[in-house]
Amino acid sequence: MASITLQNIVKEYDDGFPAVNDVSIDIEDGEFVILVGPSGCGKSTLLRMIVGLEDITSGDLLIGGDRVNDKPPRERNLAMVFQNYALYPHLSVFENIAFPMRLAKGKFTQEQVKEKVERAAGMLELTEHLQRKPANLSGGQRQRVAMGRAIVRDANAFLFDEPLSNLDAKLRGQMRAEISQLQRSLNTTSVYVTHDQTEAMTLGDRVAVLKKGVLQQIASPRELYEQP
Ligand code: ADP
Ligand code: ADP
Repeated sequence: MASITLQNIVKEYDDGFPAVNDVSIDIEDGEFVILVGPSGCGKSTLLRMIVGLEDITSGDLLIGGDRVNDKPPRERNLAMVFQNYALYPHLSVFENIAFPMRLAKGKFTQEQVKEKVERAAGMLELTEHLQRKPANLSGGQRQRVAMGRAIVRDANAFLFDEPLSNLDAKLRGQMRAEISQLQRSLNTTSVYVTHDQTEAMTLGDRVAVLKKGVLQQIASPRELYEQP
């Protein structure tokens, strides 16, 4: 995993209005940072710039200390954990996790693939489920398969884009607890976008509050909670 540094990041879309305005955040290696704010505050835009799906108008983006503004997504090696988990329904859990290594043809031996998948599955408590299809898994297990795929390709960080927003309240609570527990045991650099205050206050090491593209504050949940 790696640190992510945002230095005076600005995004102006064609209308010239800054969707993200001079945002600076230092995310340490292993830190879990939540980006929170109302719809339209610029959270997704910021995440897409980090991933490399959106150009940065000005400012610098560093991953592991290297400036990556002009690097394509592939070279940034970040793992997006999507709302729908983007799993392949026809493949087993094993093959879903192994997928990035299968893509890198010839780079890994069959033995290495097996070893890496089994190690990731162990970390994520998926060992028993390696032969099952995604349709036969719980929501939390599916999310862990998506994370397993990122672990085997040694991603620099996880990026979560409102992963719980389509779930009902009960499942959302369960998943929140799962993600929180996983984060503690894996120590992965993570950026997690949400508009949900509860998620923001229970999941992150630090919470960055965005409003109309401007960073209002960044602090630990406890510091935010104890504020007058
Ligand atoms: P959030 O994720 O917090 O809901 P967004 O990053 O999606 O916010 O949007 C921030 C602002 O940028 C909004 O005013 C939105 O209308 C605008 N915006 C987002 N995407 C585009 C785009 N592709 N073209 C023009 N404006 C956009
Ligand atoms: P992979 O399974 O390696 O992610 P994909 O075909 O899904 O392969 O994407 C090709 C590359 O583009 C990936 O290595 C990834 O880094 C990057 N990429 C594309 N879209 C995204 C995204 N939304 N989030 C993160 N990375 C992305």
